[in-house]
Amino acid sequence: MRISTITNWAYGITVLLTVLSGAAFILSAYSATQERITVQEHLALDDLGEELALGAEETTDEARLYVMRGEDRHLQTFQGKEGEERRRETAIGKVRALGASASELATLDEIQADAEALDKVEEAAVAAYRSGDQQGARQTLFGPDHERLQTALLDAVARFRESTAARMETAMNDAQSSSDFWSSTAKTLLALTAAVFLGVLYFVLKRRVAVPLMRMTGIVNRLAKQDYEVEVPLDRRRDEIGEMNEAIHIFRENGIERERLDAERRRDQQTKDLILQMMHRLQACQAQHELAAVVALFVPQIFPHFSGHLYVMNESRTMLTRFSSWLDPRRSELFFPASACWGLRRGRPHVSDATHHDIACQHLDVKEVAGLCVPLTAQGDAIGLLYLEERDQSEAASETSRLYLELIAENVGLAIANLQLRDKLTNLAVRDALTGLFNRRSLDEALNLYSREEANKPLVCMMIDIDHFKRFNDEHGHDAGDEVMRYVAQIMLDTVGNAGIAYRFGGEEFTVLLPGANEEEGLQLGEQLRSIVFATPLAYRGRVLGAVSISIGIASSPIAGSVATLLQRADAALLEAKAHGRNRLVSAAAASDERAMKLRSS
Ligand code: GH3
Ligand code: MG
Ligand code: MG
Repeated sequence: MRISTITNWAYGITVLLTVLSGAAFILSAYSATQERITVQEHLALDDLGEELALGAEETTDEARLYVMRGEDRHLQTFQGKEGEERRRETAIGKVRALGASASELATLDEIQADAEALDKVEEAAVAAYRSGDQQGARQTLFGPDHERLQTALLDAVARFRESTAARMETAMNDAQSSSDFWSSTAKTLLALTAAVFLGVLYFVLKRRVAVPLMRMTGIVNRLAKQDYEVEVPLDRRRDEIGEMNEAIHIFRENGIERERLDAERRRDQQTKDLILQMMHRLQACQAQHELAAVVALFVPQIFPHFSGHLYVMNESRTMLTRFSSWLDPRRSELFFPASACWGLRRGRPHVSDATHHDIACQHLDVKEVAGLCVPLTAQGDAIGLLYLEERDQSEAASETSRLYLELIAENVGLAIANLQLRDKLTNLAVRDALTGLFNRRSLDEALNLYSREEANKPLVCMMIDIDHFKRFNDEHGHDAGDEVMRYVAQIMLDTVGNAGIAYRFGGEEFTVLLPGANEEEGLQLGEQLRSIVFATPLAYRGRVLGAVSISIGIASSPIAGSVATLLQRADAALLEAKAHGRNRLVSAAAASDERAMKLRSS
């Protein structure tokens, strides 16, 4: 029941009880007044009865004294008592007015009649005395008739007094019990009013209001300090306190929700900041290994519940190779064909979940783990794959995470594409398109670097020229000529390996630099190169091109000369080799010695 209803009821009952107890008090007072009036009536009647008896006796006494002594004063007193009759009548009238009963009234009539009869007898006796019949007067006043009349009068008076006394006692008893009844009723009602008041005060104020209010005050104080851990016990009461409790409950729920949203917003902001940082670093990457490190560092911070791999597509767009990994994923293919990934095939993120509701990618070796493949694209071309795996089964990727993931994928894709383009442009700038060797520009830069910074370190330079190359062009076409060029370049790469760097100098001429090698080692490698090229007859598109030979001029520094003259000396040695019949190797030092000897002999 609502507190306002209880209060209203309690108020109504208290008012009713107060009115009832007031009425009982009034009735009790009225009964007391009635009792007092009855007592007064009783006294008045008693006095009246006594007065009647005494009046009769006194008159008789005066009459008797007169007839006995003959003194006038007794006569005067007797005659003075004549007004007694009127007084008696007045007194009887009063008794009637006081509400005497019928028997009492009858007794009063009897008293009156007896008194009148007695008066007459006494008056007659007095008259007889005065007329001289003293004896007759005395006999009359002391005779049996007078005695009878007087006794009858006194009996009547006594009966009247008894009757009124009995009636008055009953009336007084009634009045007293009525007064007592109303007095105790009033007290009981007053006690009841007090009990109701105190009961309501205790139950409503203390039990139903004060105690829950104190409890709620504590809860509200903690909620105000944003302590949402506080328990709000559910109060099922359907009153104001119950409603307040429910409101506090809702307030706490709202607070928890707001805190959750705040935390989510903070997490979201943190994620956005990390993504932004990652993007800035991706844009600043100068090499693909740097990009791999940035991805492996930032992605686990952004998605701590997901491990993953970054795969990059090869140039022919057929295979993917693992580039970087984070948080140790359970699925760990090093490389797989592009066709094995449904994400790459569809050009959209693809979930291979453990429940097998959708087709799983073939490149995933562990089937019971849920994985997400996000293709990396740049300008419509798939260039890689971002693979994420749930570490914790309960943490599925949310819609927002998917959006961030796609944003990351887009940026990583663009960054990879940029780096690949950059590598391509760099290759175009430093390498020769036909042979894949470094170009003349690279050679000039390398020689400048050596002469500037490593001029004192040993360096061997070989100038290589394909013999009678024009003939391949002329006899088999330029494609065949190109093939011969590629063939010689490949042998140079294989033979030189890590010992040096091969350059295409221009046309069908090549240069090899061997840093740290001495002339002897250079001669050895040059000879090896020449013999391998010459040893293998070349065929192109089913036609035998015949043996290919090269002439090599070798020069070294710093002992034989400076880096600045290295190319020039090697070229001179090459000319020497050509002059001596081609398919040979000539050292610049040996050539200059020979020239010096010739000069001396001539
Ligand atoms: P030698 O033994 O004296 O070096 O005779 P050679 O025929 O090799 O020398 P020459 O300088 O007379 O001819 C070089 C030819 O190489 C001329 C040019 O047409 C050809 N050539 C230059 N660059 C290329 C190229 O990239 N591809 C093809 N197929 N031919 C080229
Ligand atoms: Mg040439
Ligand atoms: Mg040539």
